[in-house]
Amino acid sequence: MADKKNLRTPIVCVMGHVDHGKTTLLDKIRGTAIVSGEAGAITQHIGATEVPIDVIINKLGDPRLRDRFIVPGLLFIDTPGHHAFTTLRSRGGALADLAIVVVDINEGFKPQTYESLQILKRFKTPFVVVANKIDRIGGWVSQKDLPFAVTFKKQSEDVQARLETKLYEVIGELYNQGFAAERYDRVTNFQKTLGVVPVSAMTGEGIPDVLMVLLGLAQKFLEANLHYSAKGPGVGTVLEVKEEKGLGATLDVILYDGTLKKGDTVVIGSLGKPIQTKVRALLKPRELSEMRYESKFKQVNKVTAAVGVKISAPGLEGALAGSPIRVANEDTLDEIVDQIKSEIDEVRIDTGAVGIMIKADTLGSLEALVHEFQKDEISIRKAEVGDISHRDAIEASTVEDPLYSVIIGFNVKVHPDARDFLQESTVKVFTSDVIYRLVEDYQKYVKEQQE
Ligand code: GDP
Ligand code: MG
Repeated sequence: MADKKNLRTPIVCVMGHVDHGKTTLLDKIRGTAIVSGEAGAITQHIGATEVPIDVIINKLGDPRLRDRFIVPGLLFIDTPGHHAFTTLRSRGGALADLAIVVVDINEGFKPQTYESLQILKRFKTPFVVVANKIDRIGGWVSQKDLPFAVTFKKQSEDVQARLETKLYEVIGELYNQGFAAERYDRVTNFQKTLGVVPVSAMTGEGIPDVLMVLLGLAQKFLEANLHYSAKGPGVGTVLEVKEEKGLGATLDVILYDGTLKKGDTVVIGSLGKPIQTKVRALLKPRELSEMRYESKFKQVNKVTAAVGVKISAPGLEGALAGSPIRVANEDTLDEIVDQIKSEIDEVRIDTGAVGIMIKADTLGSLEALVHEFQKDEISIRKAEVGDISHRDAIEASTVEDPLYSVIIGFNVKVHPDARDFLQESTVKVFTSDVIYRLVEDYQKYVKEQQE
């Protein structure tokens, strides 16, 4: 059997349209694992939950499976919304190793479902589709936490037929998006065909099946990519920059390679020069049993990938969400600073050419937006991370061509002084939290202008 020691935990991201059940699904996976009597085995990370392989195998109910899988478990990213996926970028790619796309089987595809699929296709990330809320199908009799095959057999023929009809609507939509898909237990080759698992995140039906398919995908697609050197310097991605009481600006980081220690020098991307600082504290969430402590966090001296951790250090205010973070030493510092700077510069645009302005919440979402607009050969003057500021508003207003006197804002705020200015100006502002809607809205606007 392959060497287990140097395999890191695969990172799993949950995506899909709002209200289709992403949070409930994660809660259920976490809850299920806790209920299985191994609460201590579940590790709560910052921004992530780790479910060890033994807990999953236990849930699957067949100890013989233990030897089939060599990954140590699965690390689920908890950050709400599917944008965590684009935030979790590494140079030119996605950091999440696997994904779950949740779609409400009764509602079908929605804008963020399409968007999730587009992003996954672009990054070639293996994923499973969860057709959620099967308990809402008329006549369904819930069987708490049971595997899909078992609960399905207990339903009446009518109900089974209703589920199949709805399921094949989902499969048809996937086909329209360029994916061959099938109910997961009818898939013979997961390399060619997407598995769709009918579940209820509410009752837990089908959850064991989701875990099983994820393990299978990890095994098939990822083994080669999951090797890491625990001794190497830590490498990660900034999930969020967060203000914490008494700590100031902190970073929620997913470390995907190597080790990070208290006192390490780290380099992080910012709008200007990369930040160089020393880790003052590494923080993890407290266990439920330790809630008597005042602080939500406890300190640790070192962490090893894959892990979610909060970093407290001086000077983190200007750090960019989605930026890389790397541990440096005296010999590597200059090189790493250059590397991170060029990585940020690759995504950012500031040409001063005639074109639109794009503002986004994270480096990853900015990268995705720039990609989409460039694909349609739309000229971009400036693209950067951050809210829409007064300065942005003024800059856009100096562009004479109405097609380019435009600000595109993704998941960002408009500062009040910018808002006042924009109301008096002819600058056209588009904001949304769906990438392709921004592209569509802009194209519609261009058409209207040209008529
Ligand atoms: P998110 O926006 O994708 O994170 O969706 P949530 O997990 O917050 O779920 C949205 C709503 O759908 C909540 O009211 C949930 O209780 C409900 N919900 C989620 N999963 C299920 C399910 O499997 N069955 C039913 N009946 N309701 C569900
Ligand atoms: Mg949610």
